[in-house]
Amino acid sequence: CGIVGYIGKREAYPIILNGLKRLEYRGYDSAGIALYDGKDIQLCKTQGKVADLETKAETEINREGNVGIGHTRWATHGVPNDVNSHPHYSNNGELVMIHNGIIENYASIKKELTNRGYTFKSETDTEVLVNLIEDIQKQEKVKLGKAVQIALNQVVGAYAIAVFDIKKPNEIVVAKLGSPLAIGVGEDEFFIASDASPFIEFTNNAIYLEDEELAIIRLGRDVKIRKIKDDKLV
Ligand code: GLU
Repeated sequence: CGIVGYIGKREAYPIILNGLKRLEYRGYDSAGIALYDGKDIQLCKTQGKVADLETKAETEINREGNVGIGHTRWATHGVPNDVNSHPHYSNNGELVMIHNGIIENYASIKKELTNRGYTFKSETDTEVLVNLIEDIQKQEKVKLGKAVQIALNQVVGAYAIAVFDIKKPNEIVVAKLGSPLAIGVGEDEFFIASDASPFIEFTNNAIYLEDEELAIIRLGRDVKIRKIKDDKLV
């Protein structure tokens, strides 16, 4: 299982696809990618190998865009199939997320969200978390970073996540506990990956996120790192 992300000026697709190939050694059963092409999200996911994803992406999506996230899945909640593969959308279609790890208390959160009208396409714990983040964004009227922080304080489990909001595609929020996550800092560009191998050819400036840290990665700004348990998030 692995995660890769990119935000900057280059085409995100080849960086993410090659990055996923480099992370294949971590083991996985499915793969997926979401790109923001300046207008819409181009989403493609499949059970199988990264090579299968590549074949599918070539026929199904417009592989353009300078922002994107990619994932290889090692199924824990829900069988390996196309629907359960990541990335996952939130109900309003605005948040797109990838996740490695396990949300242990997803069932109780899912029940609460279902009572409030949320529906779920997949059987994953991940789709529950992305909808919890959407719900917090709406209820608390907070920015994405803060919503992720509040959500993760309600979660028991392990994770490396990357999420972005299609209304604010100059920013990706990442966080980790238990699963690895590295951020590559280039010039006006950022890379995200489970280890540095997907971005080593582009930059040697890597930040390894600590457990219980969250980072807001926004173009034109320094990476903002915060403790998930801190009260404040600026
Ligand atoms: N628990 C998530 C799922 O089953 C993520 C698994 C992973 O680490 O790839 O979809």
